[in-house]
Amino acid sequence: MTAALPRDIIARKRDGHVLTADEIAAFVQGASDGSWADYQLAALLMAVTLKGMTPQETAELTNAVMASGVVADLSAIRRPKVDKHSTGGVGDKLSLLLAPMVVACGVAVPMISGRGLGHTGGTLDKLESIAGFRVNLTLEQYAEQIRTVGAALIGQTAELAPADKKLYALRDVTATVECIPLICASIMGKKLAEGIDSLVLDVKFGKGAFLPEKARAKELAQAMVAIGKAMGKPVRAVLTAMDQPLGRTVGNALEVAEAVEGLRGKAGLEDVMEVTYALGEQMLLLAGVAKDTHAARAMLEATVKNGRAVAKFREIVEAQGGDVRMIDDVGRLPQAKLLKDVRAARAGYVQSVDAKEVAIAALRLGAGRVRAEDKVDPAVGVSGLVKVGEKVAQGQPLAIIHANDADQIAAAESRITAAVAVGDAAPTRQPLIDSIIE
Ligand code: URA
Repeated sequence: MTAALPRDIIARKRDGHVLTADEIAAFVQGASDGSWADYQLAALLMAVTLKGMTPQETAELTNAVMASGVVADLSAIRRPKVDKHSTGGVGDKLSLLLAPMVVACGVAVPMISGRGLGHTGGTLDKLESIAGFRVNLTLEQYAEQIRTVGAALIGQTAELAPADKKLYALRDVTATVECIPLICASIMGKKLAEGIDSLVLDVKFGKGAFLPEKARAKELAQAMVAIGKAMGKPVRAVLTAMDQPLGRTVGNALEVAEAVEGLRGKAGLEDVMEVTYALGEQMLLLAGVAKDTHAARAMLEATVKNGRAVAKFREIVEAQGGDVRMIDDVGRLPQAKLLKDVRAARAGYVQSVDAKEVAIAALRLGAGRVRAEDKVDPAVGVSGLVKVGEKVAQGQPLAIIHANDADQIAAAESRITAAVAVGDAAPTRQPLIDSIIE
């Protein structure tokens, strides 16, 4: 029998049919070997976003993404190998903190990350704001660095999850991110290829998440945990709130600087550190190096206090060709030419900061992509963001815009002004960590 044409497979999904394993394999192969055109891949991505996939189709898509390249064999590395992955957040620089902290606790962290996706930022774009940092290591370099340094933070490559590299970039610019089967296959397909023993997932819900409703985020978490189980990999998902940005910065270099401050134990990053510790505790428990969450927390905190976490980050940056002077002095990271305060129109308490709106403001300044081939501007974004519950005076800065194009400033200013609600009463604090799904 001759293989179905791309347009026939697209039409079957468009009409709501369940795709066969062969059809899914043809699509994924088409993504990795270029035999499907971008418009055909994007059309099927949109059909899946609109019509969904059964759990069986999702599992087959995940397997096909994993098998689109090799599955890294890190069995020669004796340390437990644990990774964490987020379903996508705003101001989410946690991977930059977690990888070095967890390695400093004696665990190896093989990490295939992503670029910005939809309105959310990506670890790879953040890392590339450090001059010289290489995210495209070969499989040998990746394995060797995990052996010697303890962690490698890379992107999908021609060898590891190449189909996700292609599909991820297309989803970013075609409004096909917010789809449980596609998120599941993207995350689990590459995580299962990277050579881990176990995995912690940070599954976001709230205004800045791809799946704002908690029930839907839970559905995604359960689907990914089930796939991990079926593949013999323990997976734990931590459901975390993503209503306001994490930390006070959104933008690539700005977030690297904030992550380095967190690794150095700087005060004022309580939300960033709370989620970092919650995820890190689960990583150490899965790795079997801590007996309970209290012990895990103490180990992680010690890496910040004794400087081992920031030293390990520096080591990772150096190993991947990055300019470590930018870590020693974050003022050397790329800087935008234009700064503009966004000021409070009235006094009161910050009621909410809409993460998605702040993210779109940063993206439009150039921190993310509008077309797949766009280059991100490492320097632009937002810093000094106020946090929910803080008291502000009239005229006080709510945020600082970092721009390289004066024409973009007014739009960013009005978006951020609208994103920050100030009211009379102090709001009740919502927990950041909701639950853990095993
Ligand atoms: N992270 C990924 O790697 N893929 C997604 O689809 C969402 C978040």
